[in-house]
Amino acid sequence: MKTLYREVNQAWDSAAIEEAGRILKKGGIVAFPTETVYGLGGDALNPDSAKKIYAAKGRPSDNPLIVHICRMEDLSEIAEEIPAGALALAEAFWPGPLTMIFHKKKRVPLETTGGLSTVAVRFPSHPVAQALIGEAGGFVAAPSANLSGKPSPTNGKHCLHDLNGRVDMVLDGGEVGIGLESTIVDMTGPVPEILRPGFVTKEDLLTVLKEVRIDGTIISDKDGTAPKAPGMKYRHYAPAGTMILVEGEQEAVVKKIREMIAAAGKEGKKTGVLCTDETKECYQADLVLSAGSRKNEEEIARRLFSLLRTFDEENTEFICAETFSEERLGLAIMNRLKKAAGGNTVRAT
Ligand code: AMP
Ligand code: MG
Repeated sequence: MKTLYREVNQAWDSAAIEEAGRILKKGGIVAFPTETVYGLGGDALNPDSAKKIYAAKGRPSDNPLIVHICRMEDLSEIAEEIPAGALALAEAFWPGPLTMIFHKKKRVPLETTGGLSTVAVRFPSHPVAQALIGEAGGFVAAPSANLSGKPSPTNGKHCLHDLNGRVDMVLDGGEVGIGLESTIVDMTGPVPEILRPGFVTKEDLLTVLKEVRIDGTIISDKDGTAPKAPGMKYRHYAPAGTMILVEGEQEAVVKKIREMIAAAGKEGKKTGVLCTDETKECYQADLVLSAGSRKNEEEIARRLFSLLRTFDEENTEFICAETFSEERLGLAIMNRLKKAAGGNTVRAT
């Protein structure tokens, strides 16, 4: 398949967005920017579009897609039993990086929801995303626009790299603002539950809700319990090389990473370190990448996936990464890092 490539800066760049909307209406699939990461969109009400998305990404078909809307009134077209708490969250965080799970209406095909009777819904704030969803008829199913298992794309080039020849169009709107996927909150139980941490933190949710739970598997998956968001069970965001997270006090971490990198270098491996501005001068490796200052977690979140891709571009075979506190946005950053490392963590003492 030939993949069309269109640059688009804003919602008022309407020709490319209209073209993309026509493709979606006809059952095609298009990568497009959102404020979190790029999505690979298809018509959420068309089961064939969902099948195409799974095939293009190489994604297991039990891993449901998030349905994106661009008008608050469209929520009740696809979701049943919308609780008051959800309306309050929508009021506070939509449009924005929050996904909520509801019981689905019949018109949402099981192909879109990976066979589940629930549907995940998000109203993104990115103007290009909103315009495209409107052009496509209002309901766009979109997982992240990467090959399954790879880091999520944060610019149009990442999408082309993974999906050229596999999708109908890449709509390139430049770098995204947030860089981590949306926070997913299950609204179908008695207490709202975070199934995937994201830019909207538990603390943010608690400014609106009385109570919020966190799916325990986000913090630790040691007991073998399956996460409630099916997608969270897969190794994800992973660079091709071996990646090890090193936790502990800063000084001990630097020492441990230096030792491990030196040993891997002696074995002839191409080495890399993922660190922060505070420590980047301490390392010698083939590729030392700082995610930014520890004082600026939002910058670290924004750059993380792109840096993981840079290790692949440089064919790095052995990567050591520093870790972060799991408070606030740190929970989402560490969740992605742990998945990228496939659970490989050592403690520096
Ligand atoms: P992605 O689109 O790549 O951000 O992945 C979407 C995420 O949402 C995956 O982790 C899915 O498992 C999760 N998800 C989507 N729909 C549901 C649902 N109905 N119930 C639970 N998790 C969901
Ligand atoms: Mg994804």
